[in-house]
Amino acid sequence: AKKRGRDRYEFFTQALQAEIVETKKLADDILRGMENHEFEAFYQPQFDARSRDIVGVEALVRWRHPTLGLLAPDRFMRVAEELNVVTAIDRLVLEQGLRDHAAWREAGLVIPKLSVNVSARRLHDEELIAQLGGMDIAPGVVAFELVESIFLDEEDEVAMANIEAIKRLGIDIEIDDFGTGYASIVSLMKLQPARLKIDRQFIAPILDSTRQRKLVRSIVDIGASLGIGIVAEGVETMDHAKALQRMGCDVLQGYAFARPMTAETLAGFARGQQWR
Ligand code: C2E
Ligand code: CA
Ligand code: CA
Ligand code: CA
Repeated sequence: AKKRGRDRYEFFTQALQAEIVETKKLADDILRGMENHEFEAFYQPQFDARSRDIVGVEALVRWRHPTLGLLAPDRFMRVAEELNVVTAIDRLVLEQGLRDHAAWREAGLVIPKLSVNVSARRLHDEELIAQLGGMDIAPGVVAFELVESIFLDEEDEVAMANIEAIKRLGIDIEIDDFGTGYASIVSLMKLQPARLKIDRQFIAPILDSTRQRKLVRSIVDIGASLGIGIVAEGVETMDHAKALQRMGCDVLQGYAFARPMTAETLAGFARGQQWR
């Protein structure tokens, strides 16, 4: 028994060590990739549920890895967060987003809204507001998507002060992954967000379950009574889209319409408004 215990111990230490080595490699690779400008914003369009016009895009980071190809955030974000590189990624995505947005406009393409994801770390960054002040951000154009779990701590004064300053700069606050974070609805509403994004795990089952439809409808009701827009993410089929429109969602985003794409592809797509 003693030997078996030791074998297991060695197995776990080896597995742990292998994981540490892998994480370290990935961390070095991320830093190298940042130096090498391999990270890039993709854009997924968002549509008005009724008119079906493009009302905005969400910027989503991708890594053009020299050997592994195009990588989505699930491959690197956890380590990027541990490394604190996530604030640099958020900043890079916003800066590229503003540049692309300006280029679209110059090309005659009006994309009303540019949404970017903002990590907890960045929301707590003391330099955030100064940085934003130095950027050319027209009021009403940019939205920050903040995940609900950021607001678990109601006494979080740094975050609250930053949010007020962000709003004063004319940037909208959106609650991302709404319904997954266990923050109290009262504390969330105190933020007076412009929009709530219902997480896709609540959207997927609406066609099969009355209960799930009721849940979404009650979120829509909250939004309507407080003047907060409702965005549904992860809309995978047109049947979902129709149901969500009937339920009163304002904005729809998902594979049913378009996947995240490069800035250039987005320009072509928006011109075509292909999905009607
Ligand atoms: P999120 O903010 O919840 O973004 C939505 C995710 O759902 C995106 O995954 C998007 O590609 C995907 N998606 C969109 N429509 C559909 C659909 O119809 N079905 C399904 N199954 N998925 C859909 P992505 O691009 O892989 O990003 C994953 C997560 O990584 C994001 O989740 C966000 O939390 C994080 N992320 C992405 N870009 C950034 C960034 O620039 N900064 C920060 N801090 N986080 C980011
Ligand atoms: Ca998001
Ligand atoms: Ca989500
Ligand atoms: Ca998320």
